[in-house]
Amino acid sequence: MRTKTEKSPLKAFMKQRRMGLNDFIQKISTNSYACKHPEVPNILSISQPQEPELLNGNSSPPPSPSQQINLGPSSNPHAKPSDFQFLKIIGKGSFGKVLLARHNVDEKFYAVKVLQKKAILKKKEEKHIMSERNVLLKNVKHPFLVGLHFSFQTASRLYFVLDYINGGELFYHLQRERCFLEPRARFYAAEIASALGYLHSLNIVYRDLKPENILLDSQGHIVLTDFGLCKENIEPNGTTSTFCGTPEYLAPEVLHKQPYDRTVDWWCLGAVLYEMLYGLPPFYSRNTAEMYDNILNKPLQLKPNITNSARNLLEGLLQKDRTKRLGAKNDFVSRFQI
Ligand code: ADP
Ligand code: MG
Repeated sequence: MRTKTEKSPLKAFMKQRRMGLNDFIQKISTNSYACKHPEVPNILSISQPQEPELLNGNSSPPPSPSQQINLGPSSNPHAKPSDFQFLKIIGKGSFGKVLLARHNVDEKFYAVKVLQKKAILKKKEEKHIMSERNVLLKNVKHPFLVGLHFSFQTASRLYFVLDYINGGELFYHLQRERCFLEPRARFYAAEIASALGYLHSLNIVYRDLKPENILLDSQGHIVLTDFGLCKENIEPNGTTSTFCGTPEYLAPEVLHKQPYDRTVDWWCLGAVLYEMLYGLPPFYSRNTAEMYDNILNKPLQLKPNITNSARNLLEGLLQKDRTKRLGAKNDFVSRFQI
């Protein structure tokens, strides 16, 4: 079984433990009865974010007009960091952090994604972040996509207030169970397909589908997060060619640095489905160069322990030629009637 880091057994062990603790903290922090217990804030404060200024509204002055970034209709000009009690870091990504926070007034829990304006500009990734912002602002509402409540900013940071999804990453469950039985994998694949089809109907390519960005809610439904790499306004035949993404799930056209379109998401769905059924991504090798070569050249080989429908679906989605890939013609609706 691969792990996210795959450096040493000790690291994997530590990670497993950290995930267990994370689970435990998430469980108590989302139980309103437990939260009233005086010990609970103490336990949660053990894992306070290392950046105290995140907790302190005073050191985050509001932006001057020149520092202001247009956050569109979701922007709440009155909101500020001190409206929240930041409890712990639940995710770290390339551009910032995701924090579990409780709103002082409604006392509900939210996942607040905090991005450093400086880091965005430094990395010249403004376009990506802006696309995340725009996607989140585009009135994107779907049961299997994370919901944005509102956004705000200080002089140095952008804050996106999201639903807190507390069922953990799909990757976490997959890693614990190695692989899923077919009915479970089918259920997740259908929900992911439904979310992707919806995004495509808004001309958004998700692009960054991978287990870390697929969360489960408290009822076990899929919630996709992280619109950081979504490309907007991709017309049905429009293509885009920025090279980024997760190595394992890179579609052949992305590796070839050829233009790609929404069919890249159907490849990624195939890769996620494959990993759910077999416990490793398709064409996987510890050696990255070999893996790239496999993605480009090695025919898909499926072990016989899956049903014919799963086999057909995987063969359709993991089709190297994107024009022949399942979903290339009619995208989602006519393929997966639900
Ligand atoms: P990045 O763009 O930096 O990858 P993500 O939006 O993917 O950031 O968030 C990083 C991690 O934080 C995710 O992999 C997930 O574990 C956690 N996370 C993100 N959004 C939420 C959320 N709404 N609820 C719970 N956890 C979240
Ligand atoms: Mg992510």
